[in-house]
Amino acid sequence: MLPLEPRRIDVRIVDHPLRPERVIRTHAATHDRSRFLIVRVTDAAGRVGHGEAATTAMWSGESADSAEAMICTDFAPVLVGRTFAHPREALAVLDATAFGNPFAKSAVDTALWDLWARANGVNVAALAGDRPAVARIPTRASVGAYDTPRTLELAQAFWDAGIRTLKFKTGMAGVDDARRMAAVRDRLGDGPVFTIDANGAYATAGDAVAAIERLQPFGLALVEQPTPRDRLSMLAEVRRNVAVPIMVDEGVFTRDQLEEALDLDAFDILSIYPGKNGGFTHALDLAARARAAGKACAIGSNLETDLGQAAMACLAASNSAFPVDRIACDLPAVVFYRVSSLVEPLRFVDGCIEVPTGLGFGVEPLAAGSAMLAGARS
Ligand SMILES: [Mg+2]
Repeated sequence: MLPLEPRRIDVRIVDHPLRPERVIRTHAATHDRSRFLIVRVTDAAGRVGHGEAATTAMWSGESADSAEAMICTDFAPVLVGRTFAHPREALAVLDATAFGNPFAKSAVDTALWDLWARANGVNVAALAGDRPAVARIPTRASVGAYDTPRTLELAQAFWDAGIRTLKFKTGMAGVDDARRMAAVRDRLGDGPVFTIDANGAYATAGDAVAAIERLQPFGLALVEQPTPRDRLSMLAEVRRNVAVPIMVDEGVFTRDQLEEALDLDAFDILSIYPGKNGGFTHALDLAARARAAGKACAIGSNLETDLGQAAMACLAASNSAFPVDRIACDLPAVVFYRVSSLVEPLRFVDGCIEVPTGLGFGVEPLAAGSAMLAGARS
């Protein structure tokens, strides 16, 4: 294997507005635009690799601007000019340089994986997978916490796009979740798989259990993060008191949090993605650890664009911790953004993302200044 020889790191900030009719509203925040960061790492031979930082302050405490400062001021100086045998070695240097900043670290680590695989003439799946990559991954899409008419519009649009798993954002004050979910069942029948994500809206285990019991009659395949992110023992209490599988999302960013959640037996399914977990490398490790503990994994997201999703799709496609035919992954950029961030947008067919197979993560970001012009989607 050729080593990694980063010689230059460039960043740029890109704005991606959501389609106005698809804005995601949760009890905690409204996601109507994505001010993200693209990282490009160039090696000694002039090859490049790319990564995306899906930064939102509400989620990880990072902004595109803080990630830019961290990467340029703290990360680039400790990587550029050095030689690494594996991206893992470079990420260890970043972890030793700064606490936290998972999305900034992930953008660099993902770019290094892209570069390393390109330098060695392979797709990342060949270096990071434990199974032949699947060709397609079913995606799940978020239905924001809106009233019944708008909920119906969104659910119908996703259904018409071929998406078969819906994620209802729940727990918003003044929104009747039972009513809106009943309306979607009435309209679409038993076809859609229903999941809910409260983003920690329920303040106590009792509140969460009561809400889940109210919604269970509509057929819940899983319940995501019902209780606040820092209360893993509360999540475990909910799990002991409901029959629906529990997915942990905000509660597990790090390996130590995963170990705590396993000790508490707090979840059934782990939401994983490189940004949240502080790197593609860490996401791989967490997936392997969860699988060894008998847990399933699914890709979560902070609404990464096609660029970030290419790495996420590679991770899920090529690792057996992800039963993608049974649990849909959050790879919904195509239905939320009007334009792609790539020269060739990810292909979306029958509600599934086709996993890129080219060198690196198999995708090329649009050049600076063209993000809103090329790759247009109708
Ligand atoms: Mg979530």
